[in-house]
Amino acid sequence: MLLEIAWLTLAAIHFGVPLTYYAYLKSYLDKPWNLKIDDGYAPTVSIVIPTYDEEAFIESRLDNILEQGYPSERLEIIVVDSASSDRTVELARSWGREHPDAKLRILEEPERRGKTSALNTALQHANGEVVVLADADSFWEKNALKEAVKYFAEPKVGAVTCLKMPMQRGEAKRQTLAVESTYRSFYNKVRVAESKIHSTPIFHGELAAFRKRTLLKIGGFKQGIGADDSHAATLIALENYRAIMAPEIIAYELTPRSLKSYIAWKARRAIHLVQSFWLTVKEIRRAPIGFRRILLTEAFLHLVNPWLLLVASLLFIAFIMVSEFLLLKIVALLTLTFALTIKRIRRVLTTWVIDQLVLIYACLKGLRSKEVPWTKIEEVRGPSACNLTC
Ligand code: GDP
Ligand code: MN
Repeated sequence: MLLEIAWLTLAAIHFGVPLTYYAYLKSYLDKPWNLKIDDGYAPTVSIVIPTYDEEAFIESRLDNILEQGYPSERLEIIVVDSASSDRTVELARSWGREHPDAKLRILEEPERRGKTSALNTALQHANGEVVVLADADSFWEKNALKEAVKYFAEPKVGAVTCLKMPMQRGEAKRQTLAVESTYRSFYNKVRVAESKIHSTPIFHGELAAFRKRTLLKIGGFKQGIGADDSHAATLIALENYRAIMAPEIIAYELTPRSLKSYIAWKARRAIHLVQSFWLTVKEIRRAPIGFRRILLTEAFLHLVNPWLLLVASLLFIAFIMVSEFLLLKIVALLTLTFALTIKRIRRVLTTWVIDQLVLIYACLKGLRSKEVPWTKIEEVRGPSACNLTC
């Protein structure tokens, strides 16, 4: 009997906590912001593009920023490159010559010390009131910049980020894009709802905007933390500024095509997040009330909950093998089999299980090691405009 109770309880907690949390969040999705939002607000902006070997993307990335139509006298672009071995810097320079009106600066680090180090270098040179991180391999929806900046009219807002839409190179859609799309459409809603309550602890480097003053107050980007964007946003929320994701700010990013690259990509990001939560959850006592519940739940979902699934699954297997409750076994197996025949459930469960396994791996790996400069997942490289599928 103990075995039955154990796996059922663990499974109930594992699925119950997120489901309860999401039901709670859902009621906030359509609530108003209660913030001062001003479409005409146009502070000075510094866009920071960190690059390491981004020759495939740098020109289209710069074009995409100009196409945003932000007043050029209030916009500067800083490319901060960490000794790329390809033509990134050369291409950025020639782009600058072709666009003399754009205020482009190129900072070159003598050696690669990682993304956070590069971002801090750029921060020292940024003159804008708002600093916006823009990963080189992402694309912004038209007006994304203006949509993000308008929230800074509210003095309580310290940081603003985008929704992410996955896309893929090549004509045929792959399973990895379907999995990533399921994942994103769900979490985009979660992050927006968290933002309506107070703040979201998860930010996206594809478009992560910070009020420079607030960013300096928390000491810039923490060295050795791979999730530079999420970590800074969480520290800003801990200072009781709002760190929000708003639905009209959209960025696109390429998803690796093969399952192997996709998992490797997710694993690296998960390691970075796990490391960040491990540090920030220790500060929970100073979290403002509205943010405390969010940080605690997200830290639980990232650091603890995946393990419950692992243990519950092992106990479930033991139960199927040794339990005397034949009827219960048949009911459990039939329910599982039936659920898996429904495509939608199968897709959500696959996405969920992949995510949980990746987080377990990330906990094992990330809590022991320090962030080091990472190798790009090569599959997302190549000319940017060809055959993109959303
Ligand atoms: P992913 O989106 O999580 O796969 O991470 P990416 O490999 O795309 O890196 C995000 C951004 O940071 C890209 O613009 C990279 O070029 C940039 N980047 C990564 N490592 C470094 C680094 O060591 N120095 C600099 N300056 N930029 C980096
Ligand atoms: Mn990327």
